Amino acid sequence: MHSDKISICPCCSTLAYAHCCGPYHAKTTFAPTPEKLMRSRYSAYVLLLESYLLDTWHISTRPLTLHLAEEARIHPTKWLNLMILKTQQNSPEKGMVEFIAKYKITGKAYKLHEISEFTLENNQWFYLVGTPHY
Ligand SMILES: [Zn+2]
Repeated sequence: MHSDKISICPCCSTLAYAHCCGPYHAKTTFAPTPEKLMRSRYSAYVLLLESYLLDTWHISTRPLTLHLAEEARIHPTKWLNLMILKTQQNSPEKGMVEFIAKYKITGKAYKLHEISEFTLENNQWFYLVGTPHY
């Protein structure tokens, strides 16, 4: 799937991609809240935008690479749904988002329930760390 060809945003907002995560992926503007960054990172996984994921990952926890393209070839992931359960901002520079992402790999369904932490630096939100929720 190429990002220019989609109309509805993959982050399940029901908004048009061009009015949702598209501008963040195009780096026209930064995602203004942790929730919007979270949504744009989910849709970046759907669209295999590895550089966007790395660029929005805080330098202190960022991996060198995600091998998204290789992973997609070996274990094609079909992202089904993103549900934001809770967003909270504990200070002007710290935010958290609790979400459930559902996906399938070769027909088997999985659910990722995670609490992600975000930090604001130089007016840009970054993904810091995620804690699985059981
Ligand atoms: Zn979106």
